[in-house]
Amino acid sequence: MAKKQFKAESKRLLEMMINSIYTQKEIFLRELISNASDAIDKIYYKALTDDNLVFNKEDYYIKVTPDKESRTLTITDTGIGMTAEELENNLGVIAKSGSLAFKQENEAKDGHNIIGQFGVGFYSAFMVADEVIVTSRALGSDEAYRWVSRGADGYTVTPAEKDSVGTEIVMKIKANTEDEQYDEYLEPYRLRAIIKKYSDFIRYPIKMDMKTSKPKEGSDEFEEVVEEQTINSMVPIWRRNKNELTEEDYASFYAEKRYGFDKPLKHLHVSADGAVVYNAILYIPESAPFNYYTKEYEKGLELYSNGVLIMDKCADLLPDYFSFVKGMVDSEDLSLNISRELLQHDRQLKLIAKNIKNKIKGMLQSMLKDERDKYETFYKAFGRQLKFGVYNDYGMNKAELQDLLLFTSSKEKKLVSLDEYVSRMPEDQKYIYYAAGESIARIEKLPQIELVLDKGYEILYLTDDIDEFAIKMIMNYKEKEFKSVSSGDLGIESEADDKNADNEEKENKELFESMQKLLDGKVKAVKASKRLKSHPVCLSAEGELSIEMEKILKAMPD
Ligand code: ADP
Ligand code: MG
Repeated sequence: MAKKQFKAESKRLLEMMINSIYTQKEIFLRELISNASDAIDKIYYKALTDDNLVFNKEDYYIKVTPDKESRTLTITDTGIGMTAEELENNLGVIAKSGSLAFKQENEAKDGHNIIGQFGVGFYSAFMVADEVIVTSRALGSDEAYRWVSRGADGYTVTPAEKDSVGTEIVMKIKANTEDEQYDEYLEPYRLRAIIKKYSDFIRYPIKMDMKTSKPKEGSDEFEEVVEEQTINSMVPIWRRNKNELTEEDYASFYAEKRYGFDKPLKHLHVSADGAVVYNAILYIPESAPFNYYTKEYEKGLELYSNGVLIMDKCADLLPDYFSFVKGMVDSEDLSLNISRELLQHDRQLKLIAKNIKNKIKGMLQSMLKDERDKYETFYKAFGRQLKFGVYNDYGMNKAELQDLLLFTSSKEKKLVSLDEYVSRMPEDQKYIYYAAGESIARIEKLPQIELVLDKGYEILYLTDDIDEFAIKMIMNYKEKEFKSVSSGDLGIESEADDKNADNEEKENKELFESMQKLLDGKVKAVKASKRLKSHPVCLSAEGELSIEMEKILKAMPD
């Protein structure tokens, strides 16, 4: 039996596409600018092998012109243009991508900067326009053609006039409705912001006529003038040579991108070209954003594909415990879905995320090692997050994080890492001791710490709610168990002490019994302690939970 071809109701398909692919209308500008950039790139690639073609970079640009009166938005480019046939094929056939074909034909010539691949982006213009008029003259042709469409009801192609090679797209912007605003796409400042957001790193200048006020020549007065400005930065900082970049360059990128209102404490510029190819600039902020420890805080890195912004907060790139990291990732290897918005469980993305996680860890470790003051500043802002990271997910990530933790030590009350603690333990010390309390002052009043300190052992003072939970999750570090100073057996008492305590309990049997009666229901048992020095009594926990942990758990809502 002869195979039949699928038929498609193109009108419906187009309508469905226009209205369901994209979650944000503003991306139409990204799509049209990307197409214009591709069109210029094609001339550039052709010039690489065609000696008759000279590529003067200055001659190539994209221009965006809004006109409120006629309610039109025009995008012109000096790219390769389209013949009548190409207008038919590329704009008249849904899902036909001339750019993908170009890439495939020119594989050897390295066409990887070309953005287009799906053959649908162009139609996003109909999200904001009632009518789209494309006038184009192809490279090497004297004739120009005009493609006109109001969307679903089809298109026409007719001969037209155009002085120079390239394409002009005029969009008749829709009128505002009760639910939807379109006027903003005629506002120069709004358009400039959209261009900055998505297309800042397009490699050709995107120009707009902007009103600015300038001092009048020969007077102090200012006058309004219209000036053609280049809106985009063109060369992404992450593609520039690291050696040429200064601290200030990175700091101003951080500020410009509004990653935070503080300064970056540290940055890392990654150019990975192993199993996975990507560029990234990662920042550790100096301070925690005001909402950092709340549910409102959204983690994520900016994700670019080939210099074009795909997502402003890609959460999948960061583990929760490194949610404080800011910055961006650019990769050519991502398999985008058709809207270029979502990546569904992309293998490539997972690889990048893993790679980035290790980079961040490395950056923190080297900071801890070589820039202690900086690390402590970082730790004051985000140490709590690391401790949560150890505790969450049933301690799955503790191995990853335990070396990054710091706790206040009884020694000079300075922050100490577990590695530092263990490496300076006296030989006879069996455990890593800790004491939990509301504040250091409070902890220092604990009767239980005396004996340990007298032995010359160091104690970790845990003052943060999460501290003890994290420690319990780690269980032991370099084969040393953690021991709360208020636990029953400290591993210090000598046999003589044991005997003494036993004897005292026997000798004062009545006293102990009456105390037990008085405190009935409040304590489990009253016992003679082997651990007291200058204090008469202390509370001691017997089970898994310390007194401090019990307090915290009781205070938590059920
Ligand atoms: P994609 O960019 O994914 O290929 P589009 O729907 O955005 O899909 O564009 C379809 C095709 O139309 C492009 O592949 C390209 O061949 C052609 N095209 C679109 N805009 C232009 C332009 N400004 N100049 C030249 N060709 C263009
Ligand atoms: Mg496109």
